[in-house]
Amino acid sequence: MHEKRTHAYLILDETIFHPKGGGQPSDRGVIRSHDYEVTVKKAIHYKGVVIHWAKLNRGAPSEGEAICELDWPYRYLVMRRHTAAHLLDHCLARTVRTRVQTTDSWLDEPCYVGYAGGIPSEETLRSTEVLANSMITKGASVNIRSLSSEGARELLQNAPNYERLPDLSEIRTVTIDGCQPIPCGGTHVRNLAEIGRVSVGNAERFSSDSFRLHFSVSASVSSS
Ligand SMILES: [Zn+2]
Repeated sequence: MHEKRTHAYLILDETIFHPKGGGQPSDRGVIRSHDYEVTVKKAIHYKGVVIHWAKLNRGAPSEGEAICELDWPYRYLVMRRHTAAHLLDHCLARTVRTRVQTTDSWLDEPCYVGYAGGIPSEETLRSTEVLANSMITKGASVNIRSLSSEGARELLQNAPNYERLPDLSEIRTVTIDGCQPIPCGGTHVRNLAEIGRVSVGNAERFSSDSFRLHFSVSASVSSS
């Protein structure tokens, strides 16, 4: 008796699944054709290729055309969290009136941004939250563009993740209107208003000189 396969690795010639990277968890969803259907658990970037690790639901994967379907509610949540994380960088820096330096982030559970330095005061955290929500309420466009690395280094020297800038010839940047451009390869919403509302949770010491700021996003309470 042979062991029944339950999972498979799939490679597509193009994909809508955003791979895990830079604190952003990978997309989830379904790939299906006449012959098979799989649930994508993880998409991983490996040597220039996106590999989909998936659970087999029906049939066995074979070559040929396939339909990809994202778990859109989850992806959209990640996009809102991701944009909120950049907004928090900006608002924390404005509140403490100095540049902040991010160490890492994670946008699944638990959702946080890591920063260098000591834990800010409760008052700082509340002011950061208030400022972020006032900017969300006003709304601001979020723009993506690619810069050559020579031009980018100077423009991005105050970016919260400058120390972690990869050595690439082209650098993709995300700019919330009115804020400092940030180098980032992830997925974001097009306008701050889509975030809804951000809640700043507890700041947890992570090492002697860094902390994790936990946060969540929720649909805004709107009268309209
Ligand atoms: Zn980003």
